[in-house]
Amino acid sequence: MKKQIQAIQSYTPEEPLSEVKKRYGIKKLVRLSANENPYGTSKQVKEAILKWNFEEENRYPDGYALELRTAVAQKLKVDAKRLVFGVGLDEIIAMFSRIFLEAEDEVLVTNPTFSEYALHAEIEDAKVIQIDCNEQNGKYDFNGFLKKITSKTKIIWICNPNNPTGTYEEVSDIKNFVEKVPRSVLVLIDEAYIDYATDSEESSALKLVEEFENVAVLRTFSKVYGLANYRVGYAFVSEKVASYMEAARLPYNLSSIAQIAALAGLKDQHFIAESIEKNKRERIKWESFLIDNKIKFYHSQANFVFFRCPNATALADKLLTNGYQVRRGLRPDWLRVTIGEAEDNLNIQKIMLLEKSK
Ligand SMILES: *Cc1c(COP(=O)(O)O)cnc(C)c1O
Repeated sequence: MKKQIQAIQSYTPEEPLSEVKKRYGIKKLVRLSANENPYGTSKQVKEAILKWNFEEENRYPDGYALELRTAVAQKLKVDAKRLVFGVGLDEIIAMFSRIFLEAEDEVLVTNPTFSEYALHAEIEDAKVIQIDCNEQNGKYDFNGFLKKITSKTKIIWICNPNNPTGTYEEVSDIKNFVEKVPRSVLVLIDEAYIDYATDSEESSALKLVEEFENVAVLRTFSKVYGLANYRVGYAFVSEKVASYMEAARLPYNLSSIAQIAALAGLKDQHFIAESIEKNKRERIKWESFLIDNKIKFYHSQANFVFFRCPNATALADKLLTNGYQVRRGLRPDWLRVTIGEAEDNLNIQKIMLLEKSK
């Protein structure tokens, strides 16, 4: 066993809802801890899967995911050969780490951010350097990042919008930053929540991948597409990086069912537009609630809100017994709540006010 494995704290995955219900003795449970789409999945996904030819169960799936690849390339207007698919964006994060990191290499991340960047860096025995986000507005401290770049820096993770702060960085700000980063350092932009970033006209950094060979953009079907269970993510990278990743990728990583689900989900842009619009409406209401009640939060461009509450643990417990699971433990005294359906958001806010007045 690699020596660093002993020191690693494994990622704590979500438990099955049925298990949590049993433990707390509750009948109803709405999971708002994993940023899944609360409006479910496009109906077209199930229809497409039921049309699948079950006679091919004994055959390996298309290892190159050609149909899905072509559809994604068309949607993003990018070269299909420069897309790399993974079993969720999780696998893409693992792949980048496995391919590019060696012992003693350095990886830069903001703090707080998605924990898997650090986890996979540690598995490769690389060093993780955290640069605190701006305390006031939760945003990236790009100058702080530049100061920490050394000859050992291999990967810089930019999560945009960032999980858990929900904050969004303008593409022009990322570009200014990338221009100052040595070309030997990969800048990986995780856009798991980019569809929810509605403040900006052109929110994605895809065009930076065309401009800079060391930039990649990463996406997933798990969030707004509502396909978390099918495990499909991808990266848009330079031709060179694509060839490295294809060399190391497991040949049949995506099952046919996963490919069919993602393709059908991609085709139903009406469902996506509706989910984005509903989320935006509820996000505005959430932020007004937080402002009205003088609760510190960061302006979100994602499908979750991150806010401070001195009694975070007690509140999370209280919400759980009332049927709402939220995310704790990301920063002391802060909670992250996925923006749910209107009624659920109101119920949570009511419970927050009751707890606050105690
Ligand atoms: C959810 C999430 C992922 C992982 O997505 P999967 O495709 O489900 O593996 C990656 N990055 C961020 C920032 C996320 O929040």
